Amino acid sequence: MKTRNIARISFPSRSANEAFARGALAAFLSQADPTVNQLADIKTAVSEAVTNCIVHAYPDRAGVVRMTLSLLEGGRVRVVIADSGVGIPDVEKAMEPLYTTGNPDERAGLGFAVMQSFMDRVKVTSQPGKGTRVILEKQLETRE
Ligand code: ATP
Ligand code: MG
Repeated sequence: MKTRNIARISFPSRSANEAFARGALAAFLSQADPTVNQLADIKTAVSEAVTNCIVHAYPDRAGVVRMTLSLLEGGRVRVVIADSGVGIPDVEKAMEPLYTTGNPDERAGLGFAVMQSFMDRVKVTSQPGKGTRVILEKQLETRE
């Protein structure tokens, strides 16, 4: 599918940058005039993916998070969030609802489930010790 516009941003895995990522996403998507609901859905999914980089990818240091925002032909949005952190040994298991390796008092193990419910496509690839890449896609509604 042809790319109509693309932006790449990288930032350290600090919790302040979760809000930055959401804001950058909203600014980029304004050109596509998404509905309030669709923008909220994509922001929620991106927030979960960025939070995972901050919490899990770099557990005891700040590392780089790379976010690529693309607007594809036909109003499809693609967001790729990649880190060079610890990686995920078993992606299928990690994506199961309620599975978490985090502190159970703080984490519900629902981040990937949230991404899947708000986006049309969620694809996760990971290499232990090298990092993780999350691809999120959603088709924007065309307005009358
Ligand atoms: P919640 O998102 O509900 O706060 P959670 O982050 O544990 O809890 P998910 O977002 O579904 O739940 O992630 C499931 C598990 O996948 C995590 O506990 C972690 O083990 C692993 N994981 C997810 N993203 C990454 C990442 N970028 N790097 C390394 N591990 C990850
Ligand atoms: Mg999470």
